[in-house]
Amino acid sequence: MDYVSLLDSVWKSSSMMSEPIWPILPAELELQALWFAGAFGRDFSTIDGQSVRVVQFGEWNRGAGPDFQQAAIVLDGVDFTGALELDPHAADWENHQHATNPAYRNVVLHVSFRAEDRVHFIRNDVHRQIPQVVISHEALALALLRPRRETAIARSGRCVAPLQAMPPVVVNALLREAAEHRAMLKTRRFLQTADVHGRDAALFQAVAQTLGYRSNALPMQLLAQRATLKNFRDLPDAVEAILFGCSGFLSADMHEKAVGWTRDYLSELWQAWWKHRGNFESTRPIPWKMHGQRPANHPHRRVAALAVLAKHWPAFRKVALARPFSAKRVIEHLAALEHPFWQKHHTLASSATPQEIAIFGKSQALELIANHLAPLALQEDANFDYEKFATLRSSTINEKVRRAGIRLFGSEILAKPWQKTLTHQQALLQIYRDFCLEDFSDCAQCPFPEQLAQWQT
Ligand code: SF4
Repeated sequence: MDYVSLLDSVWKSSSMMSEPIWPILPAELELQALWFAGAFGRDFSTIDGQSVRVVQFGEWNRGAGPDFQQAAIVLDGVDFTGALELDPHAADWENHQHATNPAYRNVVLHVSFRAEDRVHFIRNDVHRQIPQVVISHEALALALLRPRRETAIARSGRCVAPLQAMPPVVVNALLREAAEHRAMLKTRRFLQTADVHGRDAALFQAVAQTLGYRSNALPMQLLAQRATLKNFRDLPDAVEAILFGCSGFLSADMHEKAVGWTRDYLSELWQAWWKHRGNFESTRPIPWKMHGQRPANHPHRRVAALAVLAKHWPAFRKVALARPFSAKRVIEHLAALEHPFWQKHHTLASSATPQEIAIFGKSQALELIANHLAPLALQEDANFDYEKFATLRSSTINEKVRRAGIRLFGSEILAKPWQKTLTHQQALLQIYRDFCLEDFSDCAQCPFPEQLAQWQT
């Protein structure tokens, strides 16, 4: 038995399928970000059976009206250009009064995420019917790469005994398959975005999500979708100001309240943002999580790191996507990034620190490698195989890896030998995601312990 068939058995298990709430619809903004990243693909069927290919996903709308402008689709072989509107439910079109709003007249496709018994006829204000696509539950589940809840209780689970009974070499084989499965999922997501927007945009969004870590991964992804590398091509001197401005972190009087170096820096940002804000400012704010962040994880710092990389993009791209892939070179490149203000400040408003702070820390570099660069290299680089990936050691154990270790191995001490490398950590995260976070029976109905008995057969 391999990890994927083990997983199949979980989905066939009635205990896991009986929950009526799967899949939970995420917030509308997250659905839009997933759509724009190409996570549902680009080929669909309308509810009345016409084929739809999204040729261009367009641009995020910065004001009132449909979600995406300047999109292009081919509907049953005929080209259409116009706007796209996404809503969680088809009924939202009527509920939000888009049918009578002229701003929605040029919508060429409506996308919703819940199949319903009742068919909603979607028309614009001049009574033209708009083709509808409903994303299937399966496509949504695949795209989310996310379980039904965020965390499970950090205590040992029912699989501790069977795992302890397995020889280490067999546990290692299990973890390898789980890590390879996770790498395949991550690579598929990267390539979907690359297919829609190109490899640079896929890498830019991947870096942004990594910098956002858990709390601000979606806001950072939205930022990278709204202020793109293409936007910066003709504005190399305004990259930093545009990213901070699009984030909503700049205001006219901010520099007047600051002193010294910070005042000068904020003034420079505002002067540059002021010239470009008309082309970038959005009435749809990015939902940052500002509270409860350690200074090193503050969104200001994350946006600053993205800006530094964007300003020196060709050099970073060369290292990140180099074949043969070298994790060491990526870490060294990121460690050498410099910015006079951000090496001494945690936020746009904080005073200077006595010590210099890394723009892109080693643990963030390893996160980027583990979640994006190494999985992609596994698929594309004949010189980078799982054995090489498995030599990369992790410098930290994050909260989810810690919980997964306790649940599967019984305690932090017993889990420690299985948390040292990036691949083992990725494997633990995948098992935790596929089993622990999908179990609502306090382990009683989780099929993983029984499936482990068949692992060696
Ligand atoms: S839910 Fe399943 S995989 Fe998770 S700890 Fe319990 S038995 Fe183990």
